[in-house]
Amino acid sequence: MSEQAMEEDQQSYEDINAVKTPFDVAQCDGDSLYTYLPNWLNSLTDEQIRAPPMSGNVFQQYIRQSHLESSMANSIRKMALNEDRLFTVDDFEFGRPLGKGAFGIVYLARLKKTKFICALKMLHKSKINEYSMAEQVKIETESGFKLNHPLILTMYDVFHDEKRFYFMLEYAPHGQLYRFLQKLRRFSDRLAASYIYQICHALEYCHSKSIIHRDLKPENILVDCCGNLKLADFGWSTKIRHADTMNTTACGTLDYLAPEIVGHKQYQYHVDNWCVGVLAYELLSGHAPFEGTDDETKVKIANINYTFPDYFSPLARRFIDNLLQKEPKRRMQLLDCIAHDWLQRNAYKYLFGPYKCPIYVHMDE
Ligand code: AMP
Repeated sequence: MSEQAMEEDQQSYEDINAVKTPFDVAQCDGDSLYTYLPNWLNSLTDEQIRAPPMSGNVFQQYIRQSHLESSMANSIRKMALNEDRLFTVDDFEFGRPLGKGAFGIVYLARLKKTKFICALKMLHKSKINEYSMAEQVKIETESGFKLNHPLILTMYDVFHDEKRFYFMLEYAPHGQLYRFLQKLRRFSDRLAASYIYQICHALEYCHSKSIIHRDLKPENILVDCCGNLKLADFGWSTKIRHADTMNTTACGTLDYLAPEIVGHKQYQYHVDNWCVGVLAYELLSGHAPFEGTDDETKVKIANINYTFPDYFSPLARRFIDNLLQKEPKRRMQLLDCIAHDWLQRNAYKYLFGPYKCPIYVHMDE
């Protein structure tokens, strides 16, 4: 790397360290992360990548702490309102639109009273009724309140008025992981592995709470101010009621559908593990493994017909092969993914950012 490139790299690293308050976060320029993070990961020694997490389960403490605070919605409301009522849209001031979903727009917003920054997702009730999506809204709310993890987008509160539902969400300044991938075209082994490592932890936590996400893809994963992932969009998630209960609802995005869903068979949480394999392939190559017309994709998925570009490392191939297994029970478990050599040799085991916070497997409560 040239002197100048190193200086620029250092500069962007400092920018990220300077991001400490929500107000700084709201103002930070997104794109420096896209050059900083991959370069910084590549500059780490093998020793730093392999370093075991420090003692003390920081995630566990974080989760316990939040549970102790009864519900996050209550404490945020109490700070902002001083009255026993729910939020209304008038409690917020609005910034730029962050994106558009199928049923409404997401805005950057700030609580007038405390200046607390968040994303406000507004869903039109008329559209939800028109497409019979009320159940999805209910599920998104239930999953949102149940999940409390640093790698999952926090749902602070939900309220509604005559026309709309409002989801008050954690703000993820770097938007979709999809955009990051578009900027870089494809990720290095270290960047892809670090992100897959984070996703495995987030999904492992969801499964431990009996929730299957069912719609994992780069569009539904957001990126926080320091580059950490925030698993989002639980609109298609479902609750596993008993370990042996199976689902049959066909949902998700075609490129990411597991063979049991394409084949209209019963399925369980293993569908998320399949998606981890597809995601790893897409992050490393810039495209999904079973691309084609809709019909071609379905046939390719049913026959597990995919090939690797030449530049895929043997370890990455083995990792993906272990997940893209037709038989759900033969698919690698998430804890085995975390322990797999591809992740152990390539993934950064801490949260990105100024505080070196280790990512741990076991999060007993
Ligand atoms: P959704 O309706 O949840 O699919 O959101 C539509 C788009 O808004 C997403 O694809 C993101 O680009 C953006 N977006 C949603 N939630 C957030 C958030 N919490 N922080 C930043 N951007 C978001």
